[in-house]
Amino acid sequence: MSGLQAGWVRRNFPQRSCIVAAMARKVQTAGSAADLIPSHPTLESLQKTAKGCKACDLWARGTQTVFGEGARNAEVMFVGEQPGDKEDLEGKPFVGPAGVLLDKALAEAGIDRRKTYVTNAVKHFKWDPRGKRRIHEKPDSIEIAACRPWLDAEIEVVSPEVIVCLGATAAQALLGGNFRVTQQRGQVLPFGDGRRVVATVHPSSILRAPDEDSRHQEMQRFIEDLRVVAKIIDGAK
Ligand code: SF4
Repeated sequence: MSGLQAGWVRRNFPQRSCIVAAMARKVQTAGSAADLIPSHPTLESLQKTAKGCKACDLWARGTQTVFGEGARNAEVMFVGEQPGDKEDLEGKPFVGPAGVLLDKALAEAGIDRRKTYVTNAVKHFKWDPRGKRRIHEKPDSIEIAACRPWLDAEIEVVSPEVIVCLGATAAQALLGGNFRVTQQRGQVLPFGDGRRVVATVHPSSILRAPDEDSRHQEMQRFIEDLRVVAKIIDGAK
């Protein structure tokens, strides 16, 4: 955690002085959340326990743990990279602009959002200060590995038919470092115990497209990838 970040927190969240103190000490707690996973996990016990996770340094940077949420026994689990600014403040995944775009694409692809579960590979917001704004910073491999037990436990408990990796971080976390979303998006691949996995882009990348035309094209490609997922679910019924 940089001095800049600590300064930003002091100015904007003066009540969080204990966190600032921890940041100033440059707490190094990189490890694994594995020891925190309850022996007979439920979504409720996982969410509750994850609130206190300090398995990597990101606990001091984010406002709170943003755990996954959605339908119990959802057929589809969406895995993004990490919570964004709005998600960090609200404590819920995919409630910011990328979540709104995901909802639109799901509706177009014929996937009922209420029957899905959404989560992230990393449960704390990693950011850098730029003026008054907090700018997204990509989590590193140590942070992704530390947080992986939470994601594994969510997959185990929700037991989805299909996992959809949104973006390179989620895809590489679950499918390995050589996986390339640009080349392998939309492919249906086996995953673990009879599940399937499909990778596509993160909706935030569509929001970053340089102009309206490319944004429209990227949205259509995203919807096509989600239609692949819709077909798997329909075929499983
Ligand atoms: S990012 Fe994951 S492993 Fe790191 S502190 Fe947060 S919940 Fe724990």
